[in-house]
Amino acid sequence: MDGFNTQISVNITRNRENKSMKYSILTNFIKGESSPSNGKFLDVFNPLNGEVITQVPLSSADVVDDAVAGAKQAFPNWANLSLKDRAQIIFRYRHLLEKNFEELAALITEENGKTIDEARAEVSVSIEMAEFATSLPQICLGEVEMVSRGVECRSERYPLGVVASITPFNFPNMVPNWTIPNAITLGNTMILKASEQVPLSANRIAELFSDAGLPEGVLNVVHGGRETVEAICENPGIDAVTFVGSTKVAKIVYKKASGNFKRVLCLGGAKNHLIVLPDANEEMTATNVAASMTGCAGQRCMAASAMVAVGNIDSIITSLCEEVKKIVPGENLGAVISKQAQERIESYITEAESEGAKILVDGRGVTVNGKENGYYVGPTVIDFVTPDMKIATEEVFGPVLAIMRADTVDEALKIENNSPYGNAASVFTQSGSLANYVAERASAGMIGVNIGVPVPREPFSFGGWNESKFGTGDITGKSSIEFWTKLKKTTTKWNPEARTNWMS
Ligand code: NAD
Repeated sequence: MDGFNTQISVNITRNRENKSMKYSILTNFIKGESSPSNGKFLDVFNPLNGEVITQVPLSSADVVDDAVAGAKQAFPNWANLSLKDRAQIIFRYRHLLEKNFEELAALITEENGKTIDEARAEVSVSIEMAEFATSLPQICLGEVEMVSRGVECRSERYPLGVVASITPFNFPNMVPNWTIPNAITLGNTMILKASEQVPLSANRIAELFSDAGLPEGVLNVVHGGRETVEAICENPGIDAVTFVGSTKVAKIVYKKASGNFKRVLCLGGAKNHLIVLPDANEEMTATNVAASMTGCAGQRCMAASAMVAVGNIDSIITSLCEEVKKIVPGENLGAVISKQAQERIESYITEAESEGAKILVDGRGVTVNGKENGYYVGPTVIDFVTPDMKIATEEVFGPVLAIMRADTVDEALKIENNSPYGNAASVFTQSGSLANYVAERASAGMIGVNIGVPVPREPFSFGGWNESKFGTGDITGKSSIEFWTKLKKTTTKWNPEARTNWMS
């Protein structure tokens, strides 16, 4: 299986003009225009009810070539604008995100299946991403120093050229907005390859950028799956690639794109551990853990998926189960992305049960009235999982929490440290020194203390460790400036009297 995406092999069809779908068949967006495709198409489903809502083109290498040519053509003029001028377009784009807030949220819900409140939160983060990009003229400053008398050294940042961003299904609006505003404000031109499971938001983002006055060719959208991604990794006109998705595909993309001498940053999957100590505040822990494991139906790379209970915390676990039972599919819990995802998640639960784990809350086999064809999995809490079980080590990517038991904090840390991933880890305690002890020793890039989803807000950057990230630096915030630019160092001497030595 390539990542989580198995639909691609079963639903490829020729485009079916006759079938009634809510949205017309999607096009790519190249050089400022819709670019219809006449190749293969893939059905796009609304996970809430299983209906086909559109079809997305599976673009070939020729289409990628075309988009790269458009982005290359747009690059010199765009890069020659001042950073302040480019940021003006992001101000207008940010305004359009706000103006179209409800419509963008509704579109996310429709193609991804998350609840409308979760979709609204997603658009709010996109707005924050755009805000950060508008601050780049203030923070992306060069440096200058007189390095010897009469000789000055100056460093400035230059854009890389044509860059590409490959994104996953779980945040159709936010993850593209992790990369586009920063990359283009810093002077690059871009190709976005969104997840073929949620392609509608990508086209809407491109439309909003056009409406904000972005020159044609600066942002291009090329739809597709594996073949399209391979073409991006191989295209010599692309200077840098970011990828967000599963670890399996992150490794493939990192290897292929860096093998072709591109700058590459790939964010992968996760298995986030929450370490709960006996002195943790019961109510706060129960509500935070329940929200973390079920938010976006557990399809967040920051979701709690493994909890390590240190000592006797049975009453916290009981409260947690009470909280979890308040989360009801079709009401305050959305659908998972596909039928295949639903089956995969349920099979993890069944396997854990057959290996001897105890199901405290069982979300298998749920249906929602009036949405019987939707892909729902109820929240599930599984206790007495052992560290060697599949459910303890693999990313489930559903609303499922595996609880493991440990006698000491060090034993809990050992379980966390053994995970190949390293996106997030959290500790729940009222002791500052124990919190620091865990925070310092957890092997993850984003740490929470009494927080179930420790996402750093801007200008702090987003990125994990270990097999949750391949490449240097992080994808958002100040760290992204480093990724999207290259440094030029200029040494200048105007004074003919200035002393000459080997350094000057
Ligand atoms: P995925 O890896 O299946 O797909 C991601 C992208 O890669 C998509 O655009 C897809 O078209 C493409 N792709 C899929 N298979 C490919 C292949 N064999 N070769 C080349 N390209 C391929 O991921 P997904 O299912 O869309 O998203 C869920 C995953 O993303 C989870 O593992 C989640 O943890 C991860 N994720 C990570 C972060 C993070 O910041 N670390 C953020 C969001 C999601």
